[in-house]
Amino acid sequence: MSDSLIVVCPHCHAPNRLPAERLAAGGNCGKCKAPLFRGEPVELDAANFDSHVGRSDIPLLVDFWAPWCGPCRAMAPAFAQAARQLEPEFRLAKVNTEQEQQLAARFGIRSIPTLALFRNGREVARQAGATDTASLIRWVRAQA
Ligand SMILES: [Zn+2]
Repeated sequence: MSDSLIVVCPHCHAPNRLPAERLAAGGNCGKCKAPLFRGEPVELDAANFDSHVGRSDIPLLVDFWAPWCGPCRAMAPAFAQAARQLEPEFRLAKVNTEQEQQLAARFGIRSIPTLALFRNGREVARQAGATDTASLIRWVRAQA
């Protein structure tokens, strides 16, 4: 039996069905041909957020942040570093709460940065406050 997974393209946001054993190899989107994993966080907005949360079989870690937030900017390199290490097991994404106020309201984001982990369309864990790469990776893996 070969399991397959839905991986949502970080570029065109189309769902791609991928045999589980090919996940590590990544591959390219069947629609736009972009790599399915780039080792960097995906910028999400109200238009593409639900594709990634609702369609993907890969757990999604979202950094709710804003450009005016010093701790958010300070954490950005750690988050990018974590993306390189956690893909393709997890997809990492960023939501700019200044631009995407509806998403911030929908998830009740009261302080930033807030990290939220989604699995199968549901939020399964949340952590507020900035963190470093090692702590972030440890926290995400502990939720798996
Ligand atoms: Zn694509």
